[in-house]
Amino acid sequence: MTQGLYPEDAQHWLNAYTAAFDAQQPYTVEYRLRRADGQYRWMLETGAPRFLPDGQFAGYIGSCLDITERKLAEEDNYLLQTMTQAIFESQDFHSALAIALQKVCEATRWDFGEAWVPRADRTVLESSRAWYSKSERLIQFRQQSETFTFLPGVGIPGRIWVSKRPEWHRDVSSEADTSYLRSQMALVAGLKAALGIPILANDEVITVLVFYMFEARGEDQRLIDLISASTELGLFIQRKQTEEEIRKSLVKERELNELKSNFISIVSHEFRTPLTSIVVATELLEKHQQQDETRKRGYFQRIRAAANRMNRLLEDVLLIGQGEGGNLEFNPAWMNLELFCQGLIDELQLNAGDRHRLTFANPGDCKQAYMDANLLHHIFNNLLSNAIKYSPKGGVVRLELHQHDGLAWFQVQDSGIGIPAADQQHLFEFFHRATNVSTIPGTGLGLAIVKQCVDLHGGQISVKSTVGIGTTFVVRLPIGSPPEQMYESDYL
Ligand code: ATP
Ligand code: MG
Repeated sequence: MTQGLYPEDAQHWLNAYTAAFDAQQPYTVEYRLRRADGQYRWMLETGAPRFLPDGQFAGYIGSCLDITERKLAEEDNYLLQTMTQAIFESQDFHSALAIALQKVCEATRWDFGEAWVPRADRTVLESSRAWYSKSERLIQFRQQSETFTFLPGVGIPGRIWVSKRPEWHRDVSSEADTSYLRSQMALVAGLKAALGIPILANDEVITVLVFYMFEARGEDQRLIDLISASTELGLFIQRKQTEEEIRKSLVKERELNELKSNFISIVSHEFRTPLTSIVVATELLEKHQQQDETRKRGYFQRIRAAANRMNRLLEDVLLIGQGEGGNLEFNPAWMNLELFCQGLIDELQLNAGDRHRLTFANPGDCKQAYMDANLLHHIFNNLLSNAIKYSPKGGVVRLELHQHDGLAWFQVQDSGIGIPAADQQHLFEFFHRATNVSTIPGTGLGLAIVKQCVDLHGGQISVKSTVGIGTTFVVRLPIGSPPEQMYESDYL
């Protein structure tokens, strides 16, 4: 009796029918039924019980109504409503996109959805971190896609960015690389049909959504219309983007205010200590003019050391001010990392004396890099000086240079006092000093400067440390720009 019913609906029909039959009650049930042309239509079946004159139940008088149009409209409404609500409740722009992708895939037959978002300067489309997949098989496709960017007019996202119109592809895996750039990847992943949809707000494309499925499929106008209806959601999604920007700038402003007041109190305090040393030493010099030369020299040394300390502090504060105001410049040029590191190690070894032994190794022979030598100096001068300073018993401080996947890995390792776990996550905050520094002097600004310089390089810094055993900082920086620049600088 359930022949021709959509498989998932057959049981549903049977349950409704048998329950009504047992109770001799009327029933209504909705299900999808296959037509002769293979297409499924939504049907509404109603059954009224029929009784013989003696009151005996004799089955049903039934009727069937094609309610496909109504069902589709309901589906459309449902999709739009759930999407609107979910986007409204989502935390930020990218989670709003992730929800839009997920809802569309769930409500329709798409297996994978991705979003492409214009970069702030609107020169290229970048992959949003939002995506949705019904299958784990597609992780690799996703990972590879993340490395792509699309210029206006290039690939599905780039073309839609310009045309502002949806695009349907029957089978991207069999297309030429010129029309679908990732056809080889789609072939490996088994993805075939694709649909790209622009999401507009105030007539601007704020994102391009691209959906895929595992089967090849001709254009389906209803699906395009349905998903395009979500373009209405553009304004909603955009509002998330604006909200996020406002929230970020508010947080930043609050942080900046806190920072300023912290800064002023700590900096004044830090200046007062050497200033007091200078005042005291000059008073002593004045009072006891007849003192012997050695003592006088001692006072002068104290004055010079205090002045140097103030100078260093002033330099750090200025540098941080520049970084925070966005005025610390990133001026990369081709440079020889090996020479740079060796030079710095030699310079610091001179100052460190023989309690500490500084070593440098470059096993991967990493040399040319497109980096800012001035910022690099801040980074490694601070890290190496810390390594020496926080190894009061002396020992070896190692700098190692490696090269992986277009990144230079710098490793600074010491066997000093180490950093307690609780302090490790705050190290890059201004003025943060670990609890175990005891009387070792410092202001807690060095690593904040290091972080700013690493960020300007688009790099990363991490730390591993055990108290009493030692500390290793690893800095990873992109080695350089396009190969043609490498060619220009062959003379280096
Ligand atoms: P300065 O501003 O003079 O550099 P600082 O050395 O105290 O002062 P940072 O360089 O920012 O400041 O370091 C922050 C804190 O991290 C230090 O106070 C110290 O507690 C900890 N730290 C940094 N490097 C090491 C290290 N190699 N070994 C142990 N602790 C370290
Ligand atoms: Mg330091």
